[in-house]
Amino acid sequence: MKVVSETDPGTVTDVICDMCGDSTRVAAGELQFGTMHASWGEGSSHRGETYELHLCENCFFVQVSTMQRTRWIGVMFEDDGDDILKNQAYGRVG
Ligand SMILES: [Zn+2]
Repeated sequence: MKVVSETDPGTVTDVICDMCGDSTRVAAGELQFGTMHASWGEGSSHRGETYELHLCENCFFVQVSTMQRTRWIGVMFEDDGDDILKNQAYGRVG
């Protein structure tokens, strides 16, 4: 959740993690967070709804791990099922 300045609503003063409620400001003073965003369109049951959630670094990787393990559970008895758990960069694109 973005926190904006009372005097300048266009200025983001902090970003609060939507999972743990802590500020995402790190010791160096910068805001460090991941986002989960969705804009549901035609054909979806949530058509017209837009979501944006912010996660601190710790909570982001808790969610990544949860997604990875959930995916693995669905294929755990298949030959390459364990490859999902061995992926140390699950979801990483850069
Ligand atoms: Zn958090």
